[in-house]
Amino acid sequence: MRDVVAAADMVEVVSGRTPLRRASGSRFTGRCPFHEEKTPSFSVNPVEKLYYCFGCGKGGDVISFVRETENLDFVGAVEWLADRFRVPIEVEEASPQIEAERRRRDRLYTVLDQTATYFERLLWEGDAGATVREYLAALEERNPVSEDPSEPADAPTAPKNVSLTDPAARWTAAPGGPAFFAYSTNYLIDLQAGIIVDVEATPAHRTQEVNSTRKMIDRVEERFDLKPKRLVGDTAYGTAPMLGWMVEDKQIDPHVPVWDKSERKDDTLSSSVSALDFSDSCRTHHASVDLASGRGS
Ligand code: ZN
Repeated sequence: MRDVVAAADMVEVVSGRTPLRRASGSRFTGRCPFHEEKTPSFSVNPVEKLYYCFGCGKGGDVISFVRETENLDFVGAVEWLADRFRVPIEVEEASPQIEAERRRRDRLYTVLDQTATYFERLLWEGDAGATVREYLAALEERNPVSEDPSEPADAPTAPKNVSLTDPAARWTAAPGGPAFFAYSTNYLIDLQAGIIVDVEATPAHRTQEVNSTRKMIDRVEERFDLKPKRLVGDTAYGTAPMLGWMVEDKQIDPHVPVWDKSERKDDTLSSSVSALDFSDSCRTHHASVDLASGRGS
């Protein structure tokens, strides 16, 4: 590990996230990659391989920087650096704990790989994906990508109508935005693996979105014999009936802000997040898909 840190170029690593320029002495500065800012308050010491932000207070060494920005654990960050700066890692030196962690991660990657392949197949082959394929084809037809190579592929095109006929769709509005015609897809996501374990479509209506979580939790328990220990959600999940169901009926630990009506400033919410964890924690998320413009939220 010391070899890896010694070989790592701190400026190169940080530059991958934010442009740096030389400041006084050997120090480099740039805009902080951890918070929004207009003037640089992020400082890098390439000799000691340390960073510190005078704006948000984030600081650490090259390993913690990689952990934060690449979303890796300690072992993952060391391997990431070793790979990047071509330092061979001697596996036999690894402790049993690191070995176990590596095996766990390899298994997880395998599961993620197979999951992706499974959903790709569902989408492109067979009857199950037919409606989605139709939807995508209609989207593409109404919003064609320019054939002109001089035009950037992501040039903004005016979104067109796709479908006003989805029976689950209804008018909804995000705070501060115009009303739009939408339905919601509600996801139950395992937080550790980042795998969507269930999906339930509902009208874009808060109560129905929240209630779909109960349906998904019951269904996942029945299908896969998996039950979350914790559920992470936004205030929409903080109603007394929902909390009662979670805690008393399901023995799920709610990580949910309690809904205090006195502090509620608006009553529109077209997108909210909740989470739960099967091994440790897991999460539900609902996204409203704007059928009129193709916009998602
Ligand atoms: Zn900062």
